[in-house]
Amino acid sequence: MTARTELLIGGRSVAGAGGPLTVENPYTEETIATVGGASVEQTDAAISAAREAWRSWGTMPAGERCELLHEVARRLREQRDELAALMTAEVGKPLIENSDEIDWCAAAFDYYAEIGRDSAGRVIPPIESSQLALVVKDPLGVVGCIVPWNYPLLLLTWKVAPALAAGNTVVCKPSELTPLSTLALAPLFDHLPAGVVNLLAGAAETGAALTADERVDCIAFTGSVATGKRVAIACAERVARVNLEMGGKDPFIVCSDVASADDLEIAARGGAWAAYLNAGQVCTSAERFYVMDDIYDDYVNAFVDHTRTLVLGDPTESGTDLGPMISAAQREKVVVQVEAAVAAGAELLVGGDNGGQEQGHFYAPAVVTGAPAETALLREETFGPVAPIVPVKSLDQAIELANGTEFGLGANVYTRDLANAVKCMRELRAGTVWINDPLTDNDAGPFGGFKQSGLGRELGREGLEAFQETKHVHMETKIERKEWWYPYSEYAAGG
Ligand code: NAD
Repeated sequence: MTARTELLIGGRSVAGAGGPLTVENPYTEETIATVGGASVEQTDAAISAAREAWRSWGTMPAGERCELLHEVARRLREQRDELAALMTAEVGKPLIENSDEIDWCAAAFDYYAEIGRDSAGRVIPPIESSQLALVVKDPLGVVGCIVPWNYPLLLLTWKVAPALAAGNTVVCKPSELTPLSTLALAPLFDHLPAGVVNLLAGAAETGAALTADERVDCIAFTGSVATGKRVAIACAERVARVNLEMGGKDPFIVCSDVASADDLEIAARGGAWAAYLNAGQVCTSAERFYVMDDIYDDYVNAFVDHTRTLVLGDPTESGTDLGPMISAAQREKVVVQVEAAVAAGAELLVGGDNGGQEQGHFYAPAVVTGAPAETALLREETFGPVAPIVPVKSLDQAIELANGTEFGLGANVYTRDLANAVKCMRELRAGTVWINDPLTDNDAGPFGGFKQSGLGRELGREGLEAFQETKHVHMETKIERKEWWYPYSEYAAGG
């Protein structure tokens, strides 16, 4: 397969004239492509093209935009196998997960195609009966979309689909590690007016150039907390809109009532999937397990037994559960965190090596017990396939620990007890609380973080409103002098 390496600027495919990006296959560790990044002039041209295209796209009837977005969804489904194969090659997660990702992208385009034409604001009660008062939702203009490498197309879609549906144009910058699947999207947008979607490649400096440009009305960012703070500061400097989806340290609570052998087994398998999906490189990976002490031993045993059955290997093979991590550097971060926890007294029960693989950045899924609460493994994002499991004496203690970090992206709970479920729903400080069904997304359900996990929401109606400006229109149908104008000598206040 020859990957497309050109940028898409103003409807034209052009070779990137900036610094080259080397794309590695994390399984074979071979270079699969070299992509020319966007030069300063090309980033500038992409923003100009988006501004120019916005004149017509922003005023196009929403019903017409709806049809064009459904066509993107149709093309995504048509290209599913090619795009999934490309993502498997550059991200390393199993093919089945990448195929699912394309399906979810298509579904999100369909969802926003419809949501975008469903309303343009609301009518509010006017001050006088001769007046009409409206709340009008306008597009913002140009949206810069900056995304990471773990779900290159899904995280881009969660920005591009609602931004376009709301009448904005976009300039997209994928991660420097995974530009290929994004650049491969160019033909899927060729039925849209030139410049509505622009696709760049580049690293931090390209993202920073987008973020700093006055002509970019909003930055929609997904990535780490450290980069997100930089983006937020740059946007604050020029009072640009910003939407931030950042890191997490999601807790996973298992209550005492999950005590039968069947329930415990399911909660262990659900936990393993939540911790190891995409080799733990999910912003909502379960990274801290708080298990009631009366079921703790049984839960740990079930978790370890299940972990031992997981298949590591070639992500293109259908039986592979876990592929490699994205890079040697990302793997090393995980190694350092686990080694530090072990040095502080924790026990590594399973995994933590390369799983016997001869190539690829593999980290065998790990279960760690006894990690002290203050270790990085229980406080900082790991972004690797590691499940630290901690016994707790009560649900109150579990919730207190769950809420005890700077993050608040997602939280998982297993319980059959309605009172426990409602207590967790109310008291967990997280943007999503999953009860008995870890990590399931819903296009209609807003996604985002409390605390340092983010600002704003993607998906749902909130995900559309993130790309809309609100205008109040106050309309008097008569032209008449108002009694409260000058001169005040004629105006009886309050009368
Ligand atoms: P990262 O912060 O290193 O990079 C994210 C993107 O920002 C990349 O495209 C990068 O090139 C760009 N960038 C880097 N410096 C920039 C700057 N100064 N200005 C503008 N853009 C800049 O993150 P990553 O390592 O690619 O991804 C992993 C992180 O993403 C994890 O922390 C993970 O939790 C987070 N993430 C969050 C969500 C969510 O929805 N909350 C989803 C997936 C991943």
